[in-house]
Amino acid sequence: MSRMKDRYTMPIPDDFHAHLRQSEGLIAYAKGHAGQFGRVLLMPNTLPPISDVHRLEAYRAEVERALEALPDYARFEPLFTFKILPGMKSADIEALARAGAVAGKYYPSGATTNAADGPRSFDEVEEALSTMEALGLVLCIHGEDPEAPVLERERAFLPSVEKLLARHPRLRTVLEHLSDAQSVRFVEHGPENLAATITAHHLLFTIDDMIGESMNPHLYCKPVLKFAADREALRAAVLSGSKKFFFGSDSAPHPREKKECDASASGVYASPSALPALVSLFDALEGLDSLIPFMTEHGAAFYGLPPNTRTLTLARNSWEVPKLLGGAVPMCAGQWLEWRVVQNEGTFMP
Ligand SMILES: [Zn+2]
Repeated sequence: MSRMKDRYTMPIPDDFHAHLRQSEGLIAYAKGHAGQFGRVLLMPNTLPPISDVHRLEAYRAEVERALEALPDYARFEPLFTFKILPGMKSADIEALARAGAVAGKYYPSGATTNAADGPRSFDEVEEALSTMEALGLVLCIHGEDPEAPVLERERAFLPSVEKLLARHPRLRTVLEHLSDAQSVRFVEHGPENLAATITAHHLLFTIDDMIGESMNPHLYCKPVLKFAADREALRAAVLSGSKKFFFGSDSAPHPREKKECDASASGVYASPSALPALVSLFDALEGLDSLIPFMTEHGAAFYGLPPNTRTLTLARNSWEVPKLLGGAVPMCAGQWLEWRVVQNEGTFMP
């Protein structure tokens, strides 16, 4: 039984992990976040990657153009990251920090979309990591060992994170998009400078939703969805109220033809439906009191950002998630969700 009335107002959430893509895609996909998020941390695995000041400035200009096309109330504040590549020097990191990057992203070589150029170990980028630690930049990690079997990649990567943390005790480190009960325990028991993002899809679904009955490529992502026990551990981590866990959608749209084909790209286009779906889930789990700090407080505190002052309102006004948005199939496409995001200006969702 829902404890909620028909309208529900909360601080506007932040999204500490998103892919907005580039060019035409960026304009379309910015709308997926519009009006639902205060700050959005943009991942740097574009082509070419955001790995120097020139690329960062060019991408910022592109993102700002896309945001200008949105109405005022729908604009969000983009936060920028850079991709950590072998050979990066201290001076490169210092320049990126001066240009406004708040975090660097570590993708093990070959772990996910556009990651073939990544380092093969933390040792390969030691100079960059030491500089980030000294400057107070956040390290975001795609924590998977690409050599391990696909369902074990995340846990297989944990020993290298343990070594990294021992070597860099002041480096604020985020394990991105946790998917495995073992990594939940690793973060819980880890040092204070270690935190993690959790996505909506890893809280909502399991591998059975993706390949149990028929194959749904729109739920195929990296790290792949795991088992019910893993999902339980992720939910418990959010419900615990621990400050170490915060929301990152990992919204990663691909055009429908890149998903519905014989070599489906990995990524869930989560941003259009993540917030309403999570409000329903945590209402059902009687955990709304924990959902709000998870989505609105812990991430900002970890990144050293001020709390959001804007609010948003959801109304119990069911809507069907569109089957296609900007050429991509959103999470929960074709399903009816109970809550939708509204504000004074009217309804945000298409
Ligand atoms: Zn991602």
